[in-house]
Amino acid sequence: MIRVNKNNPCKICLKPDWCVYSEDGQVAICARISEGSKKRCGDAGWLHVIGPDTGQAKNVKFNIQKPDNKPKPDFDRLVRSYQERLSDRQLRWLGESLGISPISLQRLGVGWDGKSFTFPMSDENQKIIGIRRRYGDGRKFAVKGSCNGLFIPQGLSESGPLFITEGPTDCGAALDLGFDSIGRPNCDSKVDMTVRFARGSRITIVADNDAVGIAGAKKLSAKLIECCPEVKIITPPLGIKDLRQWKQLGLSKGWNNDGS
Ligand SMILES: [Zn+2]
Repeated sequence: MIRVNKNNPCKICLKPDWCVYSEDGQVAICARISEGSKKRCGDAGWLHVIGPDTGQAKNVKFNIQKPDNKPKPDFDRLVRSYQERLSDRQLRWLGESLGISPISLQRLGVGWDGKSFTFPMSDENQKIIGIRRRYGDGRKFAVKGSCNGLFIPQGLSESGPLFITEGPTDCGAALDLGFDSIGRPNCDSKVDMTVRFARGSRITIVADNDAVGIAGAKKLSAKLIECCPEVKIITPPLGIKDLRQWKQLGLSKGWNNDGS
């Protein structure tokens, strides 16, 4: 299906947006007008036959995608240029302010765009699809045109368990603790992408110690359990916000999850 535009407005409502039509011009799905339509097509609108009605229209399969004509930024190039701009002094400062080693931050591909620290986000094939921006005060944005993706560090050993954390900084904390780790953009996103990446691994999901964090972890765990030999959820002890804070308070590899 082709989306209408200014030069090719909808033949039903005559507007230049929302509606779509078939390549042969025989049918249209108008988002506005139901009158005279053959049927409703979900959220897309109403199916109208424009050409002679041959009775085919009700068998047409529709696969409508949102228009995405905007060219995507060259994320690989941007990430490299941001990495080159990051000075050693900035890297040290960020490491100290987060309590994460500069090595782990570098494994996560950290850079500097002139205003904020940057972290690349990748899909399950490690193709960069977006860039998280983190200001010095912790505020978070994304580079324009970004899709949310996973924070996947360089040099995963693929031998031990894979930790799945929330965000790049908790991921860095897990790396510092000596674990393989990836970060999700937040506690309730990219479930399918995470599952595709993590399939077959022994998994430890690190959830923030709050209702939202735990609910998100359970949702992910339910999917992972179908394709991973082991899935555990751990949360920091009461009163500790996240893995990064937990680590700063002295957590080290080899602890028990009951806090002992
Ligand atoms: Zn229309």
